[in-house]
Amino acid sequence: MLSNLCSRRLIKALPASSTHLQGPFVPLTHLFSQESASSLSQIANFATKNKTAAGRTKTNNMPKSSKKKRSRADVAASAPYSAISAIANKNGGNRGRDSSSSSNLIAPNTNLGQHFLKNPAVVTAIVAKSAIKPTDVVLEIGPGTGNMTVPLLEQCKSLVAIEYDTRMVREVLKRVEGSTHDHKLRVIQGDAIKTAFPFFDVCVANVPYQISSPLVFKLLSHRPMFRCAVMMFQEEFALRLTAKPGEALYCRLSVNTQLLAKVDQLMKVGRNNFRPPPKVESRVVRIELRNPPPPVDFTEWDGMVRLLFNRKNKTLRAGLMVKATIKMLEENRRTHASLRGGDGADDMKDVDMERGIVEIIEEVVGKGSKWDGKRASKLDLDDFLTLLAEFNKRGVHFA
Ligand code: SAH
Repeated sequence: MLSNLCSRRLIKALPASSTHLQGPFVPLTHLFSQESASSLSQIANFATKNKTAAGRTKTNNMPKSSKKKRSRADVAASAPYSAISAIANKNGGNRGRDSSSSSNLIAPNTNLGQHFLKNPAVVTAIVAKSAIKPTDVVLEIGPGTGNMTVPLLEQCKSLVAIEYDTRMVREVLKRVEGSTHDHKLRVIQGDAIKTAFPFFDVCVANVPYQISSPLVFKLLSHRPMFRCAVMMFQEEFALRLTAKPGEALYCRLSVNTQLLAKVDQLMKVGRNNFRPPPKVESRVVRIELRNPPPPVDFTEWDGMVRLLFNRKNKTLRAGLMVKATIKMLEENRRTHASLRGGDGADDMKDVDMERGIVEIIEEVVGKGSKWDGKRASKLDLDDFLTLLAEFNKRGVHFA
């Protein structure tokens, strides 16, 4: 029966197409923290590995080892986020049972961040906050055994779920089989980070914390724009998304996310609402893309924000007056000048280029300037936008 179920509504994942990263937002790959940058390079590596000799990408996104029967050790080794999950596994491993769903039949694999929501009141609250309309297409990432899938199906027109673990795929299909909402569910088996998202109005997710950054990144660059995403994150990550200037958690992720989206904290969820309980507390946030997106060159924006947040508690001047940075800005200036045409390059031929950049930095953020003594940790979005415009006006570019 299960194989029937799967063949009817289980779709093998198509790899995420690069077009997701195109449009006014390219390249967003640099927009996030180092954590996400490394996740993204993992993604790139994985995609490369998945290419056939002929250069085609296979449609099955599961690592090779998942196609054969795997031991627990195999799973750990091949899981996409095994390094982090190995840590999670050390203190996870609660094989407790709850009576709320069929999930009590399946041992959670903490290597895959499987922490099932066991408190129906939390599930109900998340579904309510998602404000699903009867005409909505919902995207659920990591449905697990379907604790949220079932009440979401009751509200929406249709739901597409992306789930990595084949056991969970079978479980969620089985759970919905025969219900009045059966026809609304489609499950894509694959890694949500590497899988092309279908069209959706609302995204709902309680996913492993290891994929938080790349998932937020993927949603921020997703087009067409969706109405909102209601997501469960590790508390600290959720707080970073909405951190304000001057707060300890204010970071590059905060600035980049807030530039592209409005994020609201919806609720706190204690660790005991999950089976097994994760090590940390969680929070649910709502993400709504800014529409229209702000008129800024994001590559430049992130180039500057990255530099300034590398030394977020130093003055802007100290953050920029670094030999390597000056050299990089110099090279950028030359590239931009030559892209503007021969005259730009000629104009600069006789100028002491290094001195030029140093002088401009002094002028914009040095003594007596408006930004004298200011630090990235205290600047808001408008400040960063103004600062970028001031540098650009003087021919200084961060990408
Ligand atoms: N949403 C369910 C399950 C949460 S556990 C609930 O709240 O009860 C997280 C789920 O995400 C698991 O089912 C896990 O297998 C799945 N998952 C882990 N990594 C994933 C990935 N990269 N892509 C898609 N699903 C993933």
